[in-house]
Amino acid sequence: MRNPAELTDAFRAKGWKVTPQRQLLFRLLHDTDRHPTADALFVEASGQMPGISLRTVYQTLNDLVAMDELHVVNIGGSTRFDPNTAAHQHAVCSACGTIRDVYLSGVDGLGVAEVDDFHPQRTRITVTGVCGRCADLTPTRRPTGSHHKENQQ
Ligand SMILES: [Zn+2]
Ligand SMILES: [Zn+2]
Repeated sequence: MRNPAELTDAFRAKGWKVTPQRQLLFRLLHDTDRHPTADALFVEASGQMPGISLRTVYQTLNDLVAMDELHVVNIGGSTRFDPNTAAHQHAVCSACGTIRDVYLSGVDGLGVAEVDDFHPQRTRITVTGVCGRCADLTPTRRPTGSHHKENQQ
């Protein structure tokens, strides 16, 4: 996703209005790696700009997805938005739901080209597990050793 100033220029170049509400959403999305849902983004934006409408949030998200500035990610039955448009997969903590970007090599080589009448385009992988913080809260489930510190965010 491009930065808020560049997005403002890109929207204006299309003749779209860029309100302070939209610029706030650009900023929140540009700065997050949390893969927010529309509702979570709405709550965060409302905290900074009371009165912003859910409709504005949805419209801005739709526009950014249409411009390929945001990717839609479906994890655990919820629709989330990801400003990281580089090829990557996701690791999800089954305890707290935190989603992290992971870069796995060879994913696109996991072909199903032999399946009749199917043409693979993209492979998505979701790795489930326990994040470092949650592992620290449940020490009995953590193997003994000192690796957990490296996994903290
Ligand atoms: Zn966790
Ligand atoms: Zn991501």
